[in-house]
Amino acid sequence: MAFSKTIAQENVKQRLVNSARSGKVAHAILLSGPSGSGKLGLALAYAQYLNCEDRGKEDSCGKCRSCFMAKKYMHPDIHFSYPVVGTGALSTDYAAEWREKLAAGSYFTVYQWLQHIGAENKQGNINVQECNSIIKRLSLKAYDSPYKVMIIWAAEHLGEQGNRLLKLIEEPPENTVLILIAEDEERILNTILSRTQKFQVPRLSDEDIAKGLKTNMKTNEAKALQISALSEGNYSKALELLEDQKDNNGAKIIHWMSLCIKKNKEAELIKWIDVQVKEGRESLKHFLQYCLHFTRQTMRLRYSPQSICLLSEEEQKVAKWLAGRCAILKLEQLYELFNNASHHIARNANAKIVLTNVSISLKQTVLGKA
Ligand SMILES: [Zn+2]
Repeated sequence: MAFSKTIAQENVKQRLVNSARSGKVAHAILLSGPSGSGKLGLALAYAQYLNCEDRGKEDSCGKCRSCFMAKKYMHPDIHFSYPVVGTGALSTDYAAEWREKLAAGSYFTVYQWLQHIGAENKQGNINVQECNSIIKRLSLKAYDSPYKVMIIWAAEHLGEQGNRLLKLIEEPPENTVLILIAEDEERILNTILSRTQKFQVPRLSDEDIAKGLKTNMKTNEAKALQISALSEGNYSKALELLEDQKDNNGAKIIHWMSLCIKKNKEAELIKWIDVQVKEGRESLKHFLQYCLHFTRQTMRLRYSPQSICLLSEEEQKVAKWLAGRCAILKLEQLYELFNNASHHIARNANAKIVLTNVSISLKQTVLGKA
């Protein structure tokens, strides 16, 4: 993967490129930053750049033999380690799944990765056996590349086992580069942290995310702005929200509100709830997140009707009606309602009960006296 494929982060890119060009490559680096900021893409681009046979000033050539293999994530001198599940399981046991996931894009969360390998509710882990495998893989001679690279993704999952890598970090084999990637560096052993060169990868701006969506996903301007405002600087989340739009959450909330508020809709509402429950917990979590966004926008309409509204025309009609009817206190109650529901769904509460309770409270809040 090339640097040009990662969104923004120009400062980090420049520092990485400079280190390679000056030959002052640290043996161990840490890319630290929030989810969806592009750390994995930067690590992949750096590894490819380090071994490119025809490096440009800013990026790898993308055409040489080394780049060709790196782009397929099959480079013999670019190794990966990441959390997996199962006693004694190694990253290499999941190499095919890892390549498949990378081929679909470098922005994904640990949760999404674990779902991809069918981990369900099991916790991912980088275990003792995997640490030994890291040491073994790096002790082998490089094929014919300038650098042997090991990318350890979600390095928080190393836990105490990380101590096994200390010697490797202190006295690395020649031309070896260890790239650790972490969202929460506090969970990495201090003994390791103190031996790495740190690159802070900041969260992306809404503008960067909108630009990324337009360029990479061919999203139109209005939708890109709407999604970027919701994604909290997290491109992985933006991609997830884009997927949501296929679920049409805007239309869903309008329909739900009408079933809750209009008379004699109880039977239809129960059916609607059953359908939502069947769609699964993830889909429901996204829907409730969307309800929070919708309520925030409704509050904005109430406070300052002239402000830019990040809702579709149909949604705006309902939001205006709601803003006209509900005092700000009521809108805050609605927000609380969706927020609690989202919290309960994420913690495996019974989805049918949660949705039924929210539906009843929603009606009481909207129709009740101020
Ligand atoms: Zn190349």
